Amino acid sequence: MVSKENPSRKKLSMNESLQIRTFKRAGHIEVICGSMFSGKTEELIRRIRRAEIARQRVKVFKPKIDNRFSEFEIVSHSEQSFPSEVISSADEMLEKSFDAEVIGIDEGQFFGNDLVEVCQNLADAGKRVIVAGLDQDYKAQPFGPIPDLLSVAEYITKTLAVCVVCGAPANRTQRITASSQQILVGATNHYEARCRLHHIVNPEAQNENAGAREENAEAK
Ligand code: ADP
Ligand code: MG
Repeated sequence: MVSKENPSRKKLSMNESLQIRTFKRAGHIEVICGSMFSGKTEELIRRIRRAEIARQRVKVFKPKIDNRFSEFEIVSHSEQSFPSEVISSADEMLEKSFDAEVIGIDEGQFFGNDLVEVCQNLADAGKRVIVAGLDQDYKAQPFGPIPDLLSVAEYITKTLAVCVVCGAPANRTQRITASSQQILVGATNHYEARCRLHHIVNPEAQNENAGAREENAEAK
């Protein structure tokens, strides 16, 4: 059938137009980032559950390294959970997401920089890609692929925790055990949420400085 407004354009039947809406729609990337305990996983689970209510096909992934609470679920510190598949590298998502309309990824900071390209490919294929991850490590430095992902994402949500020292909004993660590895998987045993004022990047150095200051004061 030829459309009246534009005789050269074929008018679509209802079924054909539905197919185009399903397969040719624009996808996008959403990033949920912030410190530990800021509610990233809770927010990811909330969005995925709503997509399920809307009868969209969802698929959730997490990196192999995050085996803290469960092998088969993403789990928040408030004990909410959602089934997920463990993957070793970001490109596994390409083959495992064929059917999915909405893709959730937790702990995105633990993937390599190829996470950015994989998410771009999935979004280009018309999928909604939601990535949760730490934007800063315990030294308040940009963490893994998240900063690059932020620059290409359509939507960014920054979540804040509560500073355990003063109760202010907390944007940083304090490591409370002695280890200088960037990756040390854990929860309240190793980390606390802290605001900018109460976050100490290098507690050992601060103690040494304090000791030196005391010695100087005594010598005077
Ligand atoms: P994230 O994925 O960002 O680490 P979660 O979604 O797993 O965070 O957990 C958020 C939950 O953590 C909060 O709803 C709250 O129950 C709990 N929580 C524990 N400590 C804190 C804190 N200092 N500030 C805010 N929430 C905290
Ligand atoms: Mg989390």
